[in-house]
Amino acid sequence: MSGPDEIEQVLTEVFDEASRATDGEPASYIPELSAVDPDLFGLSICDADGNMTRRGDADHAFTIQSVSKVLSHLCVLACLDDDTIAERVGVEPTGEDYDSIIKLDHHKRPFNPMVNAGAIAVTDLLMSAHGEKALEKTLAVYARLLGRENVEIDDAVFQSEQRTGERNRAIAHLLKNFGLIDHPVEDVLALYFKHCSVRVTTQDLARLGAVLARHGRAPGSDEVLLDTECVRKALSVMFSCGMYNYAGQWIYEVGLPAKSGVSGCVLIVAPGRMGVGVYSPRVDARGSSVRGVLAGRLLSERLNLHLLSGA
Ligand code: GLN
Repeated sequence: MSGPDEIEQVLTEVFDEASRATDGEPASYIPELSAVDPDLFGLSICDADGNMTRRGDADHAFTIQSVSKVLSHLCVLACLDDDTIAERVGVEPTGEDYDSIIKLDHHKRPFNPMVNAGAIAVTDLLMSAHGEKALEKTLAVYARLLGRENVEIDDAVFQSEQRTGERNRAIAHLLKNFGLIDHPVEDVLALYFKHCSVRVTTQDLARLGAVLARHGRAPGSDEVLLDTECVRKALSVMFSCGMYNYAGQWIYEVGLPAKSGVSGCVLIVAPGRMGVGVYSPRVDARGSSVRGVLAGRLLSERLNLHLLSGA
């Protein structure tokens, strides 16, 4: 087990090493996202006792992007049964880009809730479950799991994505064509884009990771925030699908449930041990943070976190 001292020391090493990586570029397909300082780099770890260890721009706020897919999946797992969810979205990795439309057209059901098609279908399910209150209710869950009083939406990023999100629009129309969303496409997309535009810091992500690492209990307390079964299901999907078409390599090298977002954030969960939040806006061709992936690899190696390791 890694105590706070070991975490402090390893985090310093990993932060320094990962800082040297300068490949990749901030995502530009959402115009507002490209307007960031590419050198920002924050890294936070929250252990099971709730101790927070941070480096760099750990308090810098950015939009959560695809890490919202984990939170929305948890929201839907908390209020609907497996069969109802399975009618709309599966749990298989796609091996494709997060915004791929090809497999959706062939299989007529999104592969999993960690890619855009699946998350848009999940968003529609949340609208059916909560009606008019869907935004309010889901953001309340987001806030609770991120350890915040409330969360705010970055309106500029939201508007930017609304204005330019034609690919997501195409995906949503195809879902509608297959009868996989019940509400008007623009309403579902507006909620989906709002979820992607929630502002967080690496500390928030680390804390969320620690809640998941504790199977739903708040770090350092016995307070139950999530049902253990919901957490098992969400972590399983993150494990196999969270890093998109890099998921197999990620499991091979890092061996932990994780989720990346195109703003440059990565949420990593080491079950029983800790949650990790990383932010560095330079992303690779798959839309994952270059320093985030590197930091994940180094942390897993040095803190011996790989779930399938016998060492
Ligand atoms: N908001 C982005 C989109 O839907 C999220 C994608 C991501 O972070 N990978 O395209």
